[in-house]
Amino acid sequence: MTKFVFVTGGVSSSLGKGLTASSLGRLLRCRGLAVTMIKLDPYINVDPGTMNPYEHGEVFVTDDGGETDLDLGHYERFIDRDLNRDSNATTGKIYSQVIAKERRGDYLGRTVQVIPHVTDEIKERVRRLAADDIDVVIVEVGGTVGDIEIIPFLEAIRQFRRDVGRDNVCYVHLTLVPYLGAAGEQKTKPTQHSVTELRSRGIQPDVIVCRSDQPISEGLKRKISLLCDVPMEAVISAVDAPSIYDIPLALYDEGMDTVVCRTLAIDDAAHPVDLTGWQRVVERIAQTDRTVRIGLVGKYVNLPDAYLSVVEALRHAGFHHGVGIDIDWIPAEDVEQLVDTERMAHLDGIVIPGGFGERGVEGKIAAARYAREHRVPALGLCLGLQVMVIDVARHLCGLADANSREFDTATRHPVIDLMDEQQNVVDMGGTMRLGAYAARLTPGTKVAKAYADEVVYERHRHRYEVNPRYRRVLEEAGLVCSGVEAKRGLVELVELPDHPWWVGTQAHPEFKSRPDRPHPLFRELIGAALERAEGRLPHLLDLDSDVGAAS
Ligand code: GLN
Repeated sequence: MTKFVFVTGGVSSSLGKGLTASSLGRLLRCRGLAVTMIKLDPYINVDPGTMNPYEHGEVFVTDDGGETDLDLGHYERFIDRDLNRDSNATTGKIYSQVIAKERRGDYLGRTVQVIPHVTDEIKERVRRLAADDIDVVIVEVGGTVGDIEIIPFLEAIRQFRRDVGRDNVCYVHLTLVPYLGAAGEQKTKPTQHSVTELRSRGIQPDVIVCRSDQPISEGLKRKISLLCDVPMEAVISAVDAPSIYDIPLALYDEGMDTVVCRTLAIDDAAHPVDLTGWQRVVERIAQTDRTVRIGLVGKYVNLPDAYLSVVEALRHAGFHHGVGIDIDWIPAEDVEQLVDTERMAHLDGIVIPGGFGERGVEGKIAAARYAREHRVPALGLCLGLQVMVIDVARHLCGLADANSREFDTATRHPVIDLMDEQQNVVDMGGTMRLGAYAARLTPGTKVAKAYADEVVYERHRHRYEVNPRYRRVLEEAGLVCSGVEAKRGLVELVELPDHPWWVGTQAHPEFKSRPDRPHPLFRELIGAALERAEGRLPHLLDLDSDVGAAS
């Protein structure tokens, strides 16, 4: 029987509910339990695909092409399981479903209401994740207890325990215990109020996780235990951690997984915890004494969450090489003014991430060119590949006005263009290529050596492609196509053979990197950046050494 953990949050947003849920997921996995996760988001957008990154951070893409909340990235990185679009549901998605059913007549003429129809749909979305091979489903409820939009979700999860039985559900509530300087002490009142609010919806938490900047004393735990009516050991102190990857270990020290298992009637003695793998990851983080400086050239550099998975993938590669990653957030629009400055000269590597729309594109093309001409290791992701191709077209092929049709509909040289299924250039429309696609790698290329594979699957989210009509011209200028899409032959990866590491991919490999298994393209980028930092470049990377083997 699959068991369910519901994680709610109170007092404030941004307390790290997603990371707490993910960390619990990791601990349960360390006990040999099979875990999956879902995020319920109370906002009305059907999915975050249409949201501005400034609003909502990165859109995380799943293998099946789901455009989902960035917390799913944490889930995948922590529980090491590929999720799909079913792991994210929003109010918008749920209402669309209910309204579609109403239009079809599925409700047989009854009045359609929030309770039971919307709440049933919410419960169905959660229940759908239960399976014979899943022991625990962790459900994160987005938003904060007390929000208007969250009410149907709280009602649904309240009913859930009645539906599946007491022992099959655990309610975890995350709150803030602030330190008031003037009073010189930590305060439990916000937690009490938050739990009262939760109870007013009929939910009594089984576990209370208290976020704070200082550890919570035994006395304070006793107080919370008494006033919120949870056992002492179910009051978990979650102090700010040095790295997000330390959180599972911190929660383990507080005994959180044991309390959750007991609430769920899982015999914790029959599932002993093995933390060694995760501890190795955390030890590697602590061992980094050197750093490399990576310029991240983007449009949304004021909101690092817009590039969350890119940053984590860089860090994972850093763990592998034992180096810290010092990110220089470079606004794409500034690059053209920065090319001859110290700031650029200090970069050991450059990442050009994905993006949509014209703003900052010329700066990204300038960054690709700078990296190429100054032999700075560089990795282009999706739009990053496209600007690399534009750079080669303009500056090596002599096609001065080469551009992507996305930014210049009248360009004489649309080296990046919309493609239809038959690989013909199309004028308008063009749907997004979303989710996992297979790429066949070109043997002998740096990319093929890095992946140590012939066919690789990466996740996509873009409309435009390298225009096949220009492939030959680009190749004659020295650009090597290191991988093509297996079915239609679209260009998936490019590289320059006589550059230490100048690689672009049409996909978003950052989504598949894991703390203990860095993505090969990021791993090689950081390897090359490290060589540059240590003055060992310009040598070509020796990819035949075992650096290329997956760790
Ligand atoms: N805007 C580009 C396209 O649609 C790239 C998208 C991206 O970087 N994710 O093709």
